[in-house]
Amino acid sequence: MGDVLKQYINGEWKLSESGNTREILNPATGEVIAEVTEGIRADVINAVAGAKAAFYENGWMDTSAVERARLLFKLADVLESRAEEFYKLETTNNGKPIRESSVDVSDACACLRYYAGFTTKPHGVTYDVPDDMQSLVVREPIGVCGMIVPWNYPLLMAIWKIAPAIAAGNTVVFKPSEITPLTAIKLFEIIDEIGFPKGVINLVLGDGPNVGDELARNRDVEKIAFTGGTSTGRSIMKAATSNIKKISLELGGKSPNIVFEDADFETAVDYALFAIFCNQGQVCSAGSRLLLQESIYDKFIERLVERAKKIKVGSGFDESTEMGPLISQNHMNKVLSYIEIGKKEGAKLVCGGNRITEGTFGKGYFVEPTIFVDTLPDMRIVQEEIFGPVLVVQKFKDEKEAIKLANDSCYGLAAGVFSNDIAKAHRVIRKLRAGITWINTYHPTYNEAPWGGYKQSGIGRELGTYGYEEYTEVKQININLDVKPTGWFAK
Ligand code: NDP
Repeated sequence: MGDVLKQYINGEWKLSESGNTREILNPATGEVIAEVTEGIRADVINAVAGAKAAFYENGWMDTSAVERARLLFKLADVLESRAEEFYKLETTNNGKPIRESSVDVSDACACLRYYAGFTTKPHGVTYDVPDDMQSLVVREPIGVCGMIVPWNYPLLMAIWKIAPAIAAGNTVVFKPSEITPLTAIKLFEIIDEIGFPKGVINLVLGDGPNVGDELARNRDVEKIAFTGGTSTGRSIMKAATSNIKKISLELGGKSPNIVFEDADFETAVDYALFAIFCNQGQVCSAGSRLLLQESIYDKFIERLVERAKKIKVGSGFDESTEMGPLISQNHMNKVLSYIEIGKKEGAKLVCGGNRITEGTFGKGYFVEPTIFVDTLPDMRIVQEEIFGPVLVVQKFKDEKEAIKLANDSCYGLAAGVFSNDIAKAHRVIRKLRAGITWINTYHPTYNEAPWGGYKQSGIGRELGTYGYEEYTEVKQININLDVKPTGWFAK
């Protein structure tokens, strides 16, 4: 193993003041693949001071949009030229199959380019107001933005946050998940090399309760952007009250995927599998609840199980692998415990349900694609986010019942509807309480369109114009076109 990997604070690679390190594992083999410095609150405080100085004193807040665009385009170009290095590292640290990690890298480049282009486009508005007045609205950067991301899309989630924040002219202190920091560290090699001014983008490493909490709490951080679990989102909201930070939270989901009897059968089966088993089910927007109309229920499940049993689980580096390991032993145990809960609750297990341990599988954290049918709406496996390859199937009679069951959740992130009756599909989508929806497809995500949820799935949106606006303050400027005294008070 090489040297201890460092944090990037105020333009320098730094070991933590803690003097401690953390081992990073490959979830497919359980092997240690790197050792990183273990950050603490003091490192965050230093990084925030650097980001604050870069913004207010060293000129970043006055950097032109053209220059910010140039740097983001350059970052995309270099990342793209080193794509293979990044996706192989992502698969080593996260376990996801290469065919997924390579898409993550190309999506990251596309997102950087989207926001690079966005930087120089018009952002303000003018209003026709009464009196001889010109009223303008301009968008300005917020200042120091803290960012905390999870382990399921380590590189892509970093870019989804860093790109719009930099496009809008902010400075950044970024924290990856403590278990998947490797592609972020590599990204900062490029950030360092292409000449972002010191302090503009900082990397801190370490755990959520210390490093993450300090970012959320620190009074010089003016905005916190978070992706992760809903309960962590709640802690971040509380910490962010310290200075009434702006917050954007992309949290959990238990998203319904509704299939009507008039849907294209094979397409709907195919997407039902993709909706839940892509990225090992570790996707906030996963279609983890499949709602089937009763007339096709049995036939659909039969075909679904037949196909799910053929999913090839294995090392992400094997090109034929369709599903890799879960991210960690802890997380695998959580998923397996939900499978036990499902059985105890009386749901019928029709596919999978076990850890895979034969041969070398036993060293990693592999779980079979798992399907429960005959579930009831109040079961824990139907209501709670499992965040793994576990699908729960629900049965409905008609449109009205489908909508009721779909909305019976504290979450509201995503939803899908499969039907060849486009009017019905659209009618149903309009009634679903979810921020990201699909008709006759599941999962496609676009840099142009807003990403985020209703209810306990979060606050604010990422991507598109909406994502950019989350990193701006709005200022009105009223210009008097008839400059003379008011006459309000006697002379
Ligand atoms: P967390 O929400 O705990 O982790 C996400 C990020 O938040 C990590 O960087 C983590 O740090 C950090 N964090 C943890 N606690 C705090 C805190 N108190 N203050 C600030 N930051 C904190 O997700 P987990 O990885 O633990 O997964 C738990 C569950 O959350 C999953 O089972 C799943 O249900 C859900 N989840 C949802 C995701 C989504 O995209 N919607 C993504 C990931 C998880 P660190 O881990 O380094 O300690």
